[in-house]
Formats: sequence, C-alpha cells, structure tokens
Amino acid sequence: AAKTSGKGNYRFFHENLSEQLVSKLTRQAQLKQALEQDELVVYYQPRVCGRTGELTSLEALARWRHPSCGVMQPDDFIPVAEETGLIIPLGEQVINKVCDQLVQWRAEGVPLVPVSVNVSARQINSGSVSAVIAAALERCGIAPDLIEVEITESATVGESVVASAELATLQTMGSRLYVDDFGTGYSSLSQLRRLDMHGIKVDRSFTAQLTDGPQDLALFRAIVSMAHAIDMQVVAEGVESAEQLALLQGLGCDEMQGYYISPPVPASDVLLMLQKRHLYPG
Ligand code: C2E
Ligand code: MG
Ligand code: MG
Ligand code: MG
Repeated sequence: AAKTSGKGNYRFFHENLSEQLVSKLTRQAQLKQALEQDELVVYYQPRVCGRTGELTSLEALARWRHPSCGVMQPDDFIPVAEETGLIIPLGEQVINKVCDQLVQWRAEGVPLVPVSVNVSARQINSGSVSAVIAAALERCGIAPDLIEVEITESATVGESVVASAELATLQTMGSRLYVDDFGTGYSSLSQLRRLDMHGIKVDRSFTAQLTDGPQDLALFRAIVSMAHAIDMQVVAEGVESAEQLALLQGLGCDEMQGYYISPPVPASDVLLMLQKRHLYPG
C-alpha cells in the first residue's frame, strides 16, 4: 500500500497509471489481433410485430469468439474498442459480415428481413459509416432498405455537423434510422423528428418497470403516443415475459424485442426464423 508521504503517494499514483496504460495497450493489441484473425462473429436477435408476432427485423450484435476465453459479450470489448478507435474497423467488419450473411440467406431462398446494425457516436462522427454501408451493399448487391441503423441517443444529440450529414446520407440512401436505448439520454422528440429518425427503441429499463404500477404504465403509454404523434415507430427492448408483451400490445407498441421472444442467436439459427416468420412463443 502507498505510504502517507507525498513522494510515496506520487509513486503509487504513477505506477498505477502506467499499469492502467499497459493493460489498455494489451487489450487494444488483443482486440486488434482478433479483428485481423477474424474472431469477430455476429449474433442476431429478432424483432417482431406487436400485433401479429411476425418477424420484422434482426439486430446484429457483435460477439468475440476468443480462442481460449470462449464467446465474449460486447460489454467486455466494445468499451475498449470505443476508447481506442478500433470501433471503426470493428464496425466495418460487422457491416460487411451482415451483408455477406444476407447474401447467404438469400441463396437459401427465404424471404429476407432487414438487419439492424449498431453504430456508436464515435463511428458516426468518423464520417465514414454511410460510405462503408454503401460499399458493402454495392459489393453484395443488397438493397439499402435491408440495412437499418441504430444510434444511441448521445450520438444524435451531439448536433455535430458530421453526424447530421451521415444520418442524412443514410436516410437518403433508404436505410431506416432508429434511436437506441431511448429514454436514457437527453434527446427530444422534435430533434429526432428533424433528423428524420424512423423510430425509437425504448430502453429496456422502461419495459422492466411496466408492471411496477399504473404510473410506469402511463409513462410508457405517453412515450408511445408522443412518438406516434410525430409518425415514429416504437420498438420495446428487453421484453422478458408474457405479461410485459400483453401490456405493450395494449399500449399499441409497434414492435417488440427481448429474451421472451428470443435471445440473440448465431446466424445458423436464424434460417429457421426466416422460414417460420411467426415468432410468438407457444
Ligand atoms: P443494444 O444495442 O441496446 O442491444 C441490446 C442488448 O440487450 C443486447 O446486449 C441484447 O443481448 C440485450 N437484450 C436483448 N433482449 C434482452 C432482454 O430481454 N433482457 C435483457 N436483460 N437484455 C436483453 P449485448 O448483445 O450484450 O450488446 C450490448 C450492447 O453492445 C448493445 O446494446 C450495443 O450498444 C453494443 N453493441 C453490440 N454490438 C455492437 C456493434 O456491432 N457495434 C457497436 N457500436 N455496438 C455494439
Ligand atoms: Mg441496439
Ligand atoms: Mg438498445
Ligand atoms: Mg444498450
């Protein structure tokens, strides 16, 4: 432990800092290598229509298939990717893998649904996301409306010129834009309207609170009616029970996503969903 003397404290602080730096550089190097060695895989989580239970879209979620640690979740590597800028090449890989996958599913002869890709503030501010998506679509011969883009609220409220231009380009190309984790940031619906967002994905904390009481239900109802008033679609995230599903249907929520419908699954499991179409349990 550090001594109480000023000098000791300074050294302690200094060593700690370089330890952090070494650990960050190590994780950065590992992630960089993982991208080079193609250890990144994409899982898919379905989204369904609130009225019919029909499959409407698939969210692409990155996983790192680590040779010794097994499958790692985004929380274990996306923050490092964000910090180090590796999120840019990582995001590019995800987009290209998604387009390759769409080509494979198309070859199976099943009707496709759009795939929704997560894009962070840093990615959107790099100014290259729309070009990366356009190039991947072109390379694979995929229609732009088969790619949707999810942007967290913090990325949309930045008011950055680059971000606004990127969003406008994607919108013009024909890719639908969604605000991810809606309700956790500070965007106003009027801002989202101006940015031409197609819909909002209401953060799963709101879904989790639905059954807490009439006020929580009223809060969700208010979100739905405000969004609908400006012609935006509402997707509920984190639907984990039949009770939540029923309440959301009652509120007129357009689409649902969550473990109750399906967890994120590997691409090989999606084919059955594309064939089956109707995904409500039971
Ligand atoms: P997100 O975009 O909000 O994705 C939804 C997260 O909630 C996913 O976690 C999903 O597995 C989880 N989830 C889905 N249904 C339920 C449910 O019913 N209950 C609960 N408790 N959780 C549910 P995951 O896959 O761990 O991803 C975490 C976050 O990492 C994502 O949040 C997204 O922000 C980020 N992420 C994942 N893949 C990418 C990527 O390719 N690029 C970027 N920039 N970010 C990504
Ligand atoms: Mg998302
Ligand atoms: Mg989300
Ligand atoms: Mg999230």
